[in-house]
Amino acid sequence: MAVPDDKIASLADQGWSVEDAMEQYRVEVWSDGFFAVNADGNAVVQPKPDEATCIDLRLLVDDLRKRDIALPVLLRFQDVLSSRVKRIHGAFRDAIKNRGYGNRYQGLYPIKVNQLHEVVEEVLESGKEFGMGLECGSKAELVATLPHLVDDEMLLVCNGVKDTAMLELIHMGQNLGKQVMPVMEKFNEFEQWFVLTADSPTQPQFGARIKLTVSGSGRWRASSGDQSKFGISIPELVEILEMLDAAGRREEFALLHFHLGSQVTDVDMLRLAVKEISQIYAQLIQRGFEIRYLDVGGGLGVRYDARSTDEDPAIQYGLREYANTVVTTVADVCDNQNVPHPILLSESGRGITAHHSLLVVEVLGSDTKRRLPADATISTDSHALLKQLAAIGDELRGKQSIERVIEAFHQARAIRGEAAQLLQMGYLQLEDQALIEQMFWSVLDLVAARTDIIGPDPRPEECDEIEQLLVDNNLGNFSVFQSMLDHWAIGQSFPIMPLQRLNEKPTRRARLVDLTCDSDGKVSHYVTADADDRYIRLHELRQNERYYLGLFLMGAYQDIMGDTHNLFGRVSEVHLYANAEEPGGYWVEKVIPGIEVRSMLEQVQYFASDLQRRMNTIIRAKINEGVIRPSMAMQILDQYNRFFSRGTYCDTSRRNPATDATDK
Ligand SMILES: *Cc1c(COP(=O)(O)O)cnc(C)c1O
Repeated sequence: MAVPDDKIASLADQGWSVEDAMEQYRVEVWSDGFFAVNADGNAVVQPKPDEATCIDLRLLVDDLRKRDIALPVLLRFQDVLSSRVKRIHGAFRDAIKNRGYGNRYQGLYPIKVNQLHEVVEEVLESGKEFGMGLECGSKAELVATLPHLVDDEMLLVCNGVKDTAMLELIHMGQNLGKQVMPVMEKFNEFEQWFVLTADSPTQPQFGARIKLTVSGSGRWRASSGDQSKFGISIPELVEILEMLDAAGRREEFALLHFHLGSQVTDVDMLRLAVKEISQIYAQLIQRGFEIRYLDVGGGLGVRYDARSTDEDPAIQYGLREYANTVVTTVADVCDNQNVPHPILLSESGRGITAHHSLLVVEVLGSDTKRRLPADATISTDSHALLKQLAAIGDELRGKQSIERVIEAFHQARAIRGEAAQLLQMGYLQLEDQALIEQMFWSVLDLVAARTDIIGPDPRPEECDEIEQLLVDNNLGNFSVFQSMLDHWAIGQSFPIMPLQRLNEKPTRRARLVDLTCDSDGKVSHYVTADADDRYIRLHELRQNERYYLGLFLMGAYQDIMGDTHNLFGRVSEVHLYANAEEPGGYWVEKVIPGIEVRSMLEQVQYFASDLQRRMNTIIRAKINEGVIRPSMAMQILDQYNRFFSRGTYCDTSRRNPATDATDK
């Protein structure tokens, strides 16, 4: 039995506004001003925060469906990328001006954070006016980035482990007159480079990643310090200086680099690292080396959640403070040591890309427990346990103390247990058990209506159990392993928010589960205002209405790293630009369809021709055995063959939305 739609709405709207929704889903914390909720209760994106263009995401998804674009769909807002590039350079420009810093700042985009060509091109386009460059960390990334050095001033910094072939290609790039800068990660890498470039026709240049004594903070702190995988130690550095000196090749050493790891949580740690590298820089300058660049690596933090946990500490600073810390620290050390200010570089990847993409996922259904219909009657000959539960329910409708409510919960729980025992022993009819079960959930709603409003102090420990009992599994048409890999792998939080009905109070506690046949295929904690972050508040699904969730901040590392668990694979993608003149405030620049079954299977060495031949053999055998008629056989074969060009996710276009599974 479904609750009539108008009734849900009228109940839910009481005392709930879109501001409450913003608070519930912590939009202020993670949106960086790009996302909000409009008066219609729909989520919106404002890709250019300095302009009023505001795109209604709910209407946008409706529009994409009309164009036959399959969900799940990844939306890329190219203007958000561009805004972030400008904001980062703006913050450094302000810091440089305020401190009177004697040189400039240039950003480098580390493509590993999102190598998609359109993303790289958009970043370069927006960064052109600031002289932005690129960073690569592997052979394939070098091959992808090198031809993008259109102008000779543009810098390409090459980190990562480099084999001889890679060092040769870098050297070739330098001979072409391009600013390709290998950063020596290991001493033997330098030795190879040193020999390779000994008779170079043009002056070679290189940098070094220094193993600092400071180690980072946060999850990726092992990226620096003694135990880090990469970096030149101070004794090795001294040896490099001696080798360069002896060979008369001092001027080739051009850049100093460190990288504290992603998501640096603590700006004081950054300050110490910058101080250390600046001192090294100053000594090198004083010895006559002409280091031009000081590269502070990546790690600019992005706030996904305000909650701090041991495994996922919150970011404690903003962009302005980050830029000020770098600029003033370098300037102070240089001024003290009487050396010129170097060109500052940073390699912010997450900070540039995280906000620009979001995944839209349709909720296919929910296993909401069935409640007792409002018109159900309990008569004198109803089952005794049902009557006992009904009495508890009646009592809870009146005003009761919290002690009594908790006691009532204990009683209801015990009655439910008793019913289960009776059923196991064969003493309870299925119909009675069904009524008791439904009555239990109705009673639990009444209990929760009271415990929900208890503050944290003191909070009866049963509250936790009550809340967990009330969490529904909501099935989303997506794969955690493809689209939110870091959630599964390292427990990172990602903001999730419905795209519609945000002017209605979300009355359900929900857990989002995915399509994979894997019990880990779920979102296990949420960015929420609730004390318990193991569920998210969602709306009761309605018949004949699609319910969409936005999974936000997917742009860094997620949408490029996905894994093919259960062969779901790459989702559809739409690239959008904001434009106030267009209907809806946007235009679609590009659509990339999601992967088809054929290509997905090829990745694991199944080929359509072989599979179809096998299927054909089976079907012919069945015709010969007289099991099916040839016409039917051909239909089956045809149906099978058509799957190769289908998408891998649920196609909901032939299905009533959402509520099939909730129909109460
Ligand atoms: C990964 C990486 C980056 C990017 O780090 P973010 O935290 O995404 O900014 C920058 N530099 C190096 C050397 C890296 O390995």
